[in-house]
Parts: sequence; C-alpha cells; structure tokens
Amino acid sequence: MSLLNTPGDRRSFLTRSATVAAVPALSAVAGGVLTATPAAAAATSTATKTATADDPTLPDYAPVPQSALGPALNAQGYYVGRIQRNLYWVTDSTYQAAFLTTKDGVVLFDAPPTIGGNLQRAIDEIASANGVSNKVTHIVYSHHHADHLGASSLFGKNVTRIAHAETRAQLKRDNDPTRPLPDETFEHHRTLRVGGERIELAFLGTNHTPDNIYIHFPDHDTLMLVDINLPGWVPFQNFNLNEDVLGSIAAPDKALAYPWKHFIGGHIGRLGDRQDMLVYKQYIADIIDGVKAALATIDPTPFFVKYGDNAWAAVKEYQAAQCRYAAAPVVKKYTGVLAAADVYTESHAFVLLEAVRLSLGIGSQVHP
Ligand SMILES: [Zn+2]
Repeated sequence: MSLLNTPGDRRSFLTRSATVAAVPALSAVAGGVLTATPAAAAATSTATKTATADDPTLPDYAPVPQSALGPALNAQGYYVGRIQRNLYWVTDSTYQAAFLTTKDGVVLFDAPPTIGGNLQRAIDEIASANGVSNKVTHIVYSHHHADHLGASSLFGKNVTRIAHAETRAQLKRDNDPTRPLPDETFEHHRTLRVGGERIELAFLGTNHTPDNIYIHFPDHDTLMLVDINLPGWVPFQNFNLNEDVLGSIAAPDKALAYPWKHFIGGHIGRLGDRQDMLVYKQYIADIIDGVKAALATIDPTPFFVKYGDNAWAAVKEYQAAQCRYAAAPVVKKYTGVLAAADVYTESHAFVLLEAVRLSLGIGSQVHP
C-alpha cells in the first residue's frame, strides 16, 4: 500500500472505489510490479527506476464507469451476497467464487487464492445467519488455472472435487499442491445433486482453455462461466489470454442458449445479466469488424520500405497501425460503457487480427 504516498492520496484512493482491498491481488496479477516492500524496492532501484503514483510518464485512462463497480468490501476485504435463494457469490473486487448451501453441506465453485481464507469466512457468515452447515463438502472447478483454484487445498482432503477430465489432465501436468486433483471428472455433461439441489455442468468445446466449463444452476436462474465475459469490463489483456480464440468468440452464444438471469464471470466486482453478455458480444464483434477494415485499408508498403530487410520491424509497425485503426472507433464507442476500453482494446485487436488472418484466412494475399 505504500504506492499511496501521502494521507491525502490514500484517502482519495480509498473513497474512489471499493477496490482498495484488491490491491494486493492486483499486485499479484501484475507479477509483483506493485510490490511495495522495502527489500523489493531496494532490489529494483539498483536495476531500473521504479514508478511512483505521481510519475508524469504514467498515462491517464478514462474513469471507470460507476456501472462497472461492485459492492463495497467489508473490513476483511471481501463481499458476500445472495444471488438467489441458497446460492451466494463472494468477491474481493478482482476475483469471484460462488457457493450453494444445502442441507448436506456447502458446494463451492472455484477457490481463487486472492479470496483465500475469506472463502470460509464468507461461508461461515452466511451459514450462521441461516442456521445451516458451513462444511464444504464439494468443490467444483471451472477450469484448471491457478488464479481461480489456488485456495482449493485450504479445504483439505475430505472434500469431493469435481471437474472436467481435461482439468484433471492439466492439473496432473502442473503438479501444484495448492490445486488438488479432482476426485470425479466428466467429459460432456454431469448433473450434480447435493442436498436436494441440482447443478448442471457441461463442456461445450474449448474456449478460454481446453477445459473451461459451463456451470448452470437451473433452479437459481444463474450461469457461471469464468474468464469469458467480465461484466462491466473489457477482457484482461490480449483477449483474456484465451487459448482458443474462435472458441472463445463462440462462447457467449452458448451461454445465452441457457435460461438464466444472473451471471458469474469469475472476475471484477459485480455479477452480470443477459444485457452484459450482449454488450460484451457486440464489443468483440465491433473489434473484429475493425480488424477486417484495417486489413483492407492500411497500406503495408511504407512500413516495408522504411525497414528494408528488417522484416519483423516492418510487420510489428504495420500490425500496430492496424490495431490502432481497428481499436480507435471501438474505444470511442465503449468508453463510459465498459471499463478499461481505452486500456486493453488495442491488445484485443491484435489477438483478433491474428485469429481473423490465421484461422479465417481473411487478408491472405496469394502471390500471382
Ligand atoms: Zn483462466
């Protein structure tokens, strides 16, 4: 927190949003860039100059729309809320998990390490208020990524972990003790029944990862699909690092084919609804339109003339120009609609440009 230098800075940061407790989580995401311990600062200052909050070279970005922010966190740094009946969600403003209280115990959906010990605190809070069991008996994994599962081991060995078969394969390869292997796996569909509640798990093809599943709560009007649409926000850098770009572009329609009102996206501080999914889908479609226009419009000649035999310099600058061209109208359209449109749209344009070129074959020029 020493990135906030003066009491005034600190106060204005605290009042500006509910995300303050997520700063440690964000610094973890940033690979320690925000690490603020004296030892770390001393170590980095000898190598490169580190940024300060008042550094004039740090760019300014458009304000985050109020509609993108979620509820305020409590003193322990989490928020827990009811979605419908006995289905709840927990957030630290950066990550999200969900849980279902049943007469036979609690089913937890994902265990992000940034929420960590607050998962059980949130469950305890709800269980004691409602006089039901706080014992987690099942954990469902959305996909194998550590940023969504790294607190799984906190729940010990006497929990049934359920995931897609490919999640098991990926976790076996990763060999990370914080993410115990699932005890039960499925290939296509699995109906999970616990304490009289029903949860439908489905694998509908690769998207963000080869194992990312749709978690449908038919009796709670809710769908959980992680790392596709982050309600209120554009995706994380480079189109959420989605491994299957075309599969990820197809995911919103598969999500919308289910009946639901409430959406758990796994990230940032609020839930979504069907309108959020439609806005997200249009945002991606608009970038793809921009990329196709850039392929047809930007003349590569000046880049190759300038850089001569340095092919990569020419390609880099030509594609950067294409991404700027594709992103500019999209940033304009979505600023104030989706948070961070000006931060990451160009990075998404690059990934979508490559998908349009390499997977769809658009813009390929055949030598005469
Ligand atoms: Zn992921």
